[in-house]
Amino acid sequence: MTGPPPVSRLTDDRPTDDTDPDTDPRRRIMALASRLVKPETQGLVHLTVLRRERLSPHWMRVTFGGAEIDAFRPMGYDQWFRLFLPLGGDEGLDRLPAKANKLFGYLRYLRIPDGVRPVMRNYTVRAFRSATDDRGAELDVDFVLHGSAEDGTAGPASRWAETCEAGESVVVIDEGLAFNPERGTDRVVLVADETGLPAIAGVCASLPDDATGLAVVEVPSAEDALEFAHPEGVRVQWIVRDHDVKPGAPALHALREASLPDAPFHAYIVGEQELPTEGRRHLVNERGVPKESVSFCGYWRVGTASPTPKSQLAGAEARA
Ligand SMILES: Cc1cc2nc3c(=O)[nH]c(=O)nc-3n(C[C@H](O)[C@H](O)[C@H](O)COP(=O)(O)OP(=O)(O)OC[C@H]3O[C@@H](n4cnc5c(N)ncnc54)[C@H](O)[C@@H]3O)c2cc1C
Repeated sequence: MTGPPPVSRLTDDRPTDDTDPDTDPRRRIMALASRLVKPETQGLVHLTVLRRERLSPHWMRVTFGGAEIDAFRPMGYDQWFRLFLPLGGDEGLDRLPAKANKLFGYLRYLRIPDGVRPVMRNYTVRAFRSATDDRGAELDVDFVLHGSAEDGTAGPASRWAETCEAGESVVVIDEGLAFNPERGTDRVVLVADETGLPAIAGVCASLPDDATGLAVVEVPSAEDALEFAHPEGVRVQWIVRDHDVKPGAPALHALREASLPDAPFHAYIVGEQELPTEGRRHLVNERGVPKESVSFCGYWRVGTASPTPKSQLAGAEARA
């Protein structure tokens, strides 16, 4: 799989524009994420919440559908998208500019007044089911619940997932894939904290049946280890993190200790910022893995919220 160059700094959610030489993302993204595979089209797609389901202590699955879902083109693997949540009401969704994921569109998005402006976050397609005679197409997204909606310690997206209702509207913009191996690679090393579990599950569902390798997945509790379908030859190692341990650290430790498959293989590391950056450094510097054989992406950062309209800040953040 190959594709055009990357266009966004994933961990801070602020898009860049590859037509602007001053913000050339190719120079800035490499420290944070590897080359992306872009989708064919990138319009605004309006979706509706069909249902939500609590899967485990830290997982909420939200299923989306609605009239425009036919405009969404599933690509498999770790396909991800910008998700706009109507925390200030539906008016904000109607005012979204077409390219809110690119620099100039994002500046227009920021001009939507606080109080109305939707919250923008990044999420992964956990599953996509095409339409049948009985129902329309459906898109599952698995949200990690962190903090608590009740006491205001959760981020806006986690809070929304915990409390959203059927019939609510959202908008998504497809961003394509970060998993980007050489064509024909079927030996993999996949490493993630819980935020990357949907991506690893998606990658495993898309790999050929005879693919081999290792998947290391760290989760906050044993109940959060949601089994997923994977090729028989891909060994899944679950790691349950203790409460007082920094997310990503146990998965990083496991990677450092792991006996890796024979080269060549493609590695994929996502999760709390330090996991992909340190994991990639380890593979390249200490295991001799070529840089281009590692796809990696910082999904979030401990103690740093993604940009949030002031009106949507909760708890201590809002009072500061
Ligand atoms: C390409 C991509 C795909 C992603 N796919 C998924 C996905 O499918 N499912 C998913 O759950 N997440 C996914 N994420 C991660 C998700 O975008 C972030 O966790 C996001 O910050 C959550 O937004 P929020 O509004 O809940 O919290 P924010 O407002 O961003 O943060 C508020 C506070 O919560 C902390 N925080 C944020 N996320 C977490 C977390 N997971 N655990 C503990 N503390 C946290 C922050 O450090 C901050 O202190 C993905 C990220 C990327 C870049």
